[in-house]
Amino acid sequence: MPGHRLQPAVLSTVNGIPYADAYGDVYHSADGGLEQARHVFLAGNGLPERWADRHGFTIMETGFGLGLNFLATWQAWRNDRRRSARLHYVAIEKHPFSARDLVQLHALWPELASLSAQLLQAWPVLVAGFHRIELEEGRVVLTLAFGDIADCLPQIDAVADAFYLDGFAPSKNPDMWAPQVLVRLNRLAAPDATAATYTVSAAVRQALGQGGFLCEKRPGFGRKRDMLAARYAPRWQTTTRQGAIERHAIVIGAGIAGSTACERLAARGWQVTLIERHDRPAQEASGNLAGIAMPLLSKDDNISSRLLRAAFLYTVRTWDRLGGIGRAFAGESCGVLHLAPDAAHAVATLGFPEDFVRWMDGCAVEALTGASGSEGACFFPRGGWVTPSSLCDALLRACGDGLQRRFSKEVAALERTAAGWQVRDSCGDVLAEAPVVILANGTIATSFPQTQALPLSAIRGQVTHVPAEALPALPVVLCGEGYVTRPANGMCCVGASYDFDSDTELRQASHDENLARLKQVLPRADVNIALAGRVGFRCVSPDRLPLVGALPNASLPVAGSRLRDVPRLPGLYGLMAYGSRGIVWAPFAAELLASMLEGEPLPIERELAEALDPARFALKAYRRSGTEPGQDAKDL
Ligand code: SAM
Repeated sequence: MPGHRLQPAVLSTVNGIPYADAYGDVYHSADGGLEQARHVFLAGNGLPERWADRHGFTIMETGFGLGLNFLATWQAWRNDRRRSARLHYVAIEKHPFSARDLVQLHALWPELASLSAQLLQAWPVLVAGFHRIELEEGRVVLTLAFGDIADCLPQIDAVADAFYLDGFAPSKNPDMWAPQVLVRLNRLAAPDATAATYTVSAAVRQALGQGGFLCEKRPGFGRKRDMLAARYAPRWQTTTRQGAIERHAIVIGAGIAGSTACERLAARGWQVTLIERHDRPAQEASGNLAGIAMPLLSKDDNISSRLLRAAFLYTVRTWDRLGGIGRAFAGESCGVLHLAPDAAHAVATLGFPEDFVRWMDGCAVEALTGASGSEGACFFPRGGWVTPSSLCDALLRACGDGLQRRFSKEVAALERTAAGWQVRDSCGDVLAEAPVVILANGTIATSFPQTQALPLSAIRGQVTHVPAEALPALPVVLCGEGYVTRPANGMCCVGASYDFDSDTELRQASHDENLARLKQVLPRADVNIALAGRVGFRCVSPDRLPLVGALPNASLPVAGSRLRDVPRLPGLYGLMAYGSRGIVWAPFAAELLASMLEGEPLPIERELAEALDPARFALKAYRRSGTEPGQDAKDL
């Protein structure tokens, strides 16, 4: 879905019923939207009975609209004593409403007021792509795919127990009911999946039938005589559900990557043993005073930009979940100004809303920062800076009893056992044992024989600490070739050098470089004092994207040209190579990995998850080896 420009819905009503002029149809039955949701979509899928006592239950909806079906489902789930432990709701929507319109629309159903308020509090910015919203302390998870069904459906990675098919009438909205769309629902269907819809169109029944669904007409809602209920019963073998897993993981590394992993797993009821060689969290790459949170734009909205946008938006939501930036941990959501004249085109053509990014011309930049001569900049109002160690503390606190800390312990070996993995120290003593191990220790991960082939490198970064009073006061974080933050503990961070050596000492040459870059973003900065700072090492991969997921087994041959053909090390996962963007990548990557481990719907498009797969380099090497001439990494 690159470069997709989202067209939000335009609010209109006919006889008090929400109406879409573009499609010439109403959003729900004139006989009652909430009652229709309960009769057609819930009862049509055997709900609430079918989710009783389950660990998780996943519903997929085509056409989120006002979210009435979602709110009715959430309400039924809440009121049910035998509800599943978690409810996943994945919905596709091409024309989402703004939160302001939804407030007005939902006002028609006072009984939904509290749920609507919670949903709208978390309502995403209207940009194309997937958005994950956690409600009921993460027990109700809404994944919204904003885009056309033809683009979104192939990108969903989920196993659906129930489908709500709720496009506008097939005659008015044929794209939603296209045979190729309906037939391919089977890719996502759990072995006992069901589907329901208000239409009994012969073409819809035929396409569902072709996909392996047995359709049955049932009494319809209101003035509609019939509706459709369908059961997935293909004549061919279906994929089986992932079996129950023992929810215990060892996380190695208590930086931002490891701390977010602990928090995401503990929130799902996992026991996590966190092993760290230092006596406290965030002592290496995550030890900087300030990390910056902002996305990155590109003219063609490439994979990196889409990933960083999804990660950034998820990160900002994480801050709220943890209790708020500047409250639960140190930082400020002060906005980030990115001096990037090239980005003007991207802001204009991709049509991003102003609550995501605003273009500022040179005059506006000067008015905000006092920096003259700028050709313009992107302003990300939700961006800001965070003290990573403080964020790590907040994340680890949020784990509660699920977390066991084993600090000042260094893992020297990983050993596969019948039950999973044992991790040992240099004396051979077992530090912990669990079915799952997550390596979140940057380039040190390559010190184990099993993972030494991972293509990670360390890049030195020296940050200069400038006392706030030595710099002009700025209301925002300012980035360009270099960056300067607002004060953290009285110090503005100016950075950062990018060096290919392993010198751990501060050096004047790196300070000088940083100050030269500072001059570029803030010409009136004039710093003439002795300087302090910090040296850290970024862990990077060859394509500068993180590694998130199951680690490849380099001792076995790659069996084919797809990612699934790369053999993996069972139970061994990685969260690494966040480069200079740990604050942005970490929460999102941890959520992605936790979703994979639990067999939940993935929070992003399949192609984006694949771009982070740690096996991509092994596959690229396989393709380069000549087995498949003409293919390269961008085809992965
Ligand atoms: N289920 C919704 C509810 O509970 O409020 C009502 C859905 S309304 C009948 C149909 C929805 O399908 C509209 O919101 C519309 O924007 C969306 N839609 C129409 N064509 C689409 C397409 N090609 N891809 C994705 N969504 C589409």
